[in-house]
Amino acid sequence: MTVYLVGAGPGDPGLLTVRGRELLSRADVVVYDRLASPRLLDLAPESAERIDVGKAPDRASLGQAEINTLLVERGRGADTVVRLKGGDPFVFGRGGEEAEALAAAGIPFEVVPGVTSAVAAAAYAGIPVTHRGVSTHVTVVTGHEDPAKGETTVDWAALAAAGGTLVILMGAGRLGEITAGLLAGGLPADTPATAVRWGTTPRQQTVRAALGTIADAAIEAPAAVIVGDVAALDLSWFERRPLFGRRIAVTRAREQASELRARLEELGAEAVEVPAIVVKPKPFDLPDLGSYGWLVFTSANGVDAFFDRGLMPAGLDTRALGALRVAAIGPGTAERLRQRGVEADLMPERFVAESLVEAFPPPAGADEGVLIARAAAARDVLPDGLAERGYRVDILEVYETFAAEPDPEVVDWVRRGEVDAITFTSSSTVTNLMAVLGGVPDPQPAVVAIGPVTAETARETGLRVDAVATEHTIDGLVRALVDLLAG
Ligand code: SAH
Repeated sequence: MTVYLVGAGPGDPGLLTVRGRELLSRADVVVYDRLASPRLLDLAPESAERIDVGKAPDRASLGQAEINTLLVERGRGADTVVRLKGGDPFVFGRGGEEAEALAAAGIPFEVVPGVTSAVAAAAYAGIPVTHRGVSTHVTVVTGHEDPAKGETTVDWAALAAAGGTLVILMGAGRLGEITAGLLAGGLPADTPATAVRWGTTPRQQTVRAALGTIADAAIEAPAAVIVGDVAALDLSWFERRPLFGRRIAVTRAREQASELRARLEELGAEAVEVPAIVVKPKPFDLPDLGSYGWLVFTSANGVDAFFDRGLMPAGLDTRALGALRVAAIGPGTAERLRQRGVEADLMPERFVAESLVEAFPPPAGADEGVLIARAAAARDVLPDGLAERGYRVDILEVYETFAAEPDPEVVDWVRRGEVDAITFTSSSTVTNLMAVLGGVPDPQPAVVAIGPVTAETARETGLRVDAVATEHTIDGLVRALVDLLAG
């Protein structure tokens, strides 16, 4: 049908355009290569065919002619084809050649510009490519052509004479020859030069030097090199975020990890998921809710599983709660209830079972019932404590947790201590991760727990606990982590 040449942006998945996201979300076929952030592929429907035409260690990449043919073939079908290209498709992306091939074959195509690394890598390094009073023009040039061989079409001497800002893409491997060409063209050796490798990603690395010395840093691809007076500007912000450059393991179930991951990434961290558990709703028969005074939730999972009624087709109508009062163990659970249209009547001061027991008022009558909707296999503190306080307690098992099968590469990083910290949000994440690891990592990364119970479980498995959140929420956990690593 139509082939969309979509700019994927320079790396940070947040730099995809709204139009690009919309097209990805209804793509039938996605054709991508190495520079497109793998995270963007998750935006395509699960059923979409994903075709990798980039280089991989085990095979050669498709040549440009083969890619063109592939796009033309796929474009002939009824499918929506998204060709994802790093940065902007028409800035050194060979997108022009793909468009030519499509046009020649009479295949309808559209171009969705992207945020080019030529501007974005500089911006994320704190360098405006033009700046009032410093530089009035910017030239983006490929460094791919070897100036040492006479056949180059890039006139480095002319570029040197033009002044302004020079942004060199694809130049990492030839920086020695390129800088020599610019120096020979008359640019002073002390002209500021800054290289930005893996710009806009958690691995971003910035090397600030001068034209005469920048090649000595032996920067590897992919890097953008900025030459000119603006390269001395240092409006650094990206690399100053408190968790920049830190790799943090998130052990929550995949379904729940995204909130924590987003918070960590916003602070600059590379969040890697080692989902230690998988949450599965458990079918259950709804008891007579009218026979209880209280309904208690100990996790957001419990809320979801309860209201979705396990695997049953129709979810629960909140009116079925009638006059039941509802208790939530903490703000995350209360928030999930709110999303379901239910305001919690009770939340303890500290977000642990012990505190919830204390927060309950004395039973209203001799036989006041409490129904606890929670995971199969959970601690007995809550039911025992409430029974002791005179309540009739029933447990409704609404979901189960299973050990997950995490990405082996990430497991290896954790095992070898190649992460800066491991975060635990519940005791089950501790026991399941330790089962996956088979022992304490060596060297052990920092361990941060959401609360004292989780911390205790971690200690029991032999882990050293470096920080425990004072507020037992995701926010509290993140704060503890920042205090530990950045403080
Ligand atoms: N169309 C792309 C450029 C493709 S050429 C764009 O508009 O950004 C590939 C070159 O782009 C790399 O060799 C490198 O010089 C640059 N590049 C791509 N992503 C980059 C990144 N995240 N950081 C720095 N440079 C990058």
